Amino acid sequence: MNVPFVDLKSQYLGIKDEIDKAIADVIAATAFVGGSGNMFVTDFEKSFAQYVGVTHCISCANGTDSLEILLKAYGVADDDEVIVPALTWISTSEAVTNVGAKPVFVDILQDYYTINVNKIEEKITSRTKAIIPVHLYGLPAEMDEINSLAKKHKLVVIEDCAQAHGAEYKGKKVGTIGDAASFSFYPGKNLGAYGDAGAMLTNSFEIAERVRMIANHGQLKKHQHKIEGRNSRLDGIHAAVLSVKLKYLDDWNLKRRQHADFYKEQLMSKNIKFQQAPEYSKHVYHIFSIALDHRNELIDTLKSKHIDTAIHYPAALPFLEAYKHHDYYIKDFPVVAELTSRIISLPMYPELNARAIEYVCDRINEFK
Ligand SMILES: *Cc1c(COP(=O)(O)O)cnc(C)c1O
Repeated sequence: MNVPFVDLKSQYLGIKDEIDKAIADVIAATAFVGGSGNMFVTDFEKSFAQYVGVTHCISCANGTDSLEILLKAYGVADDDEVIVPALTWISTSEAVTNVGAKPVFVDILQDYYTINVNKIEEKITSRTKAIIPVHLYGLPAEMDEINSLAKKHKLVVIEDCAQAHGAEYKGKKVGTIGDAASFSFYPGKNLGAYGDAGAMLTNSFEIAERVRMIANHGQLKKHQHKIEGRNSRLDGIHAAVLSVKLKYLDDWNLKRRQHADFYKEQLMSKNIKFQQAPEYSKHVYHIFSIALDHRNELIDTLKSKHIDTAIHYPAALPFLEAYKHHDYYIKDFPVVAELTSRIISLPMYPELNARAIEYVCDRINEFK
């Protein structure tokens, strides 16, 4: 049996007629780029805002731009500091550096792998302007604690929801809990376009207007450039694809949750650590990750049985070459340093079936 890590082809085949028609409609209307009242783009922005439950959704080119544009809109700039978790995709910290500020890394929680809310306050200084919690692998960060620290120290909270479309924290959808939220629609995400795409969500009219200007050359109306912005727009084709796929998101997330339960059931007897989820959170399993000894050997064994895996991520951000000049030490990030040497992400996508999961688990259970 062959088990790929993700399978976008079978997802496409399941909704092929709708997708093909949506793309053909965009071409027929020559509605190729966003930013100037493109109907496909505004339709998607409206439906996604409604789905998440916020008043404003402003689309852009990708989920890295969306973080950067939001930071800009909140005035985060030179020599400011922004708190980010040590375990995430590099976009979260890259966006901070790209607006001229400094990312300040915080270790993760032992069980949930999201930012350790007990270690944030010691990193807050007079220069700290924002916190970017990441809902890692699809599990919401501990937002109550984050929001109360933010309130106490007057910080902005920007949720990085790139891995968590549809996830919930205490009955609230992620993207509604902080001051603003950033989404990525990279093809492999729980809601993915057919290329790069992203969006910024907020209930603030002021911030919404500002990010919309920044993402489209500083203009809200054609040729009225109030500021210098940039070009970061959502293409019509991606918007149309996203509108089709949004209707299936809840069903797909449910399947991911069922697959995760089945994996855990099958792997229970082994000495394997799973990411825990508090009972008040709804995890949407963008990534299904396990942690165990002899990780690298297991990856090779699975590869030889035609099972693809990945590691999210092989190194915590502070230990990447990009941050070498800061001299971060393992002793300051003990939890993430240990975890990253032991994790593997197993195949996870809605179209995965029980037979494939059993096949993967049997191979893991017979390992060592
Ligand atoms: C995917 C991802 C991003 C960036 O999204 P792109 O659309 O690829 O730029 C940001 N943060 C996290 C946590 C991600 O997983």
